[in-house]
Amino acid sequence: MKTILFFFFILSILGFDAAIATAETKKGNDGRKKNIIDGFTNKIVPMELLEVVKEVLPQYPELANVPIEFRITKLKSISMCAQPKADMLYRSAAKRAYVIKVSDNQEECNGMVVMNAPREVLVGLIAHELGHIMDYRERNKLQMAQFGLGYLFSKNYMRKAEYVADSFAVSKGYASHVSAIKNYVINSSIFPETYRNRLKNFYPSPQQILNIQQSCVVK
Ligand SMILES: [Zn+2]
Repeated sequence: MKTILFFFFILSILGFDAAIATAETKKGNDGRKKNIIDGFTNKIVPMELLEVVKEVLPQYPELANVPIEFRITKLKSISMCAQPKADMLYRSAAKRAYVIKVSDNQEECNGMVVMNAPREVLVGLIAHELGHIMDYRERNKLQMAQFGLGYLFSKNYMRKAEYVADSFAVSKGYASHVSAIKNYVINSSIFPETYRNRLKNFYPSPQQILNIQQSCVVK
């Protein structure tokens, strides 16, 4: 019982969502849900993000059948985040479903307006979030709980998690795109300082991205 309560505690502090699909889904002429990319199933994507997701997702064949919902919603001080859905308690890692939340922020004085971001940045963001899911799918329930606690309470742990997500994106060919996110945010004084500092302090710099890219090439 204590273990169950512990998991619920972790979930509640992480704000994991109930598995309710509200995003707009592409439908075929028959009104039924249609797979947005050949060979890829279980994806829910709002129309606003369909083009960019269709561009990036094929580089992640490992996620072909992993249930992923992209959801535009309120987010505090970040542009996107990837999380397991709440029913992860009842599912093995292989059957786990994920949500990639995308900020609905409309004012640049609050942070990035995702839909106004340059295409390269948007691609980098999606590649980064899919990188998190690549990381999550290798973790069992206990490891996911440890991840949640580590991310929440340790700045170094958080840095490592962001480094891993960017590393996956770089390994898929998105080095310049994830660097573009940093350059776009850090160099734009229109964004609030706290938002820019967060990116500067917790995510790999363009130079670190270059290093990751070089080590990928060496392998
Ligand atoms: Zn991240």
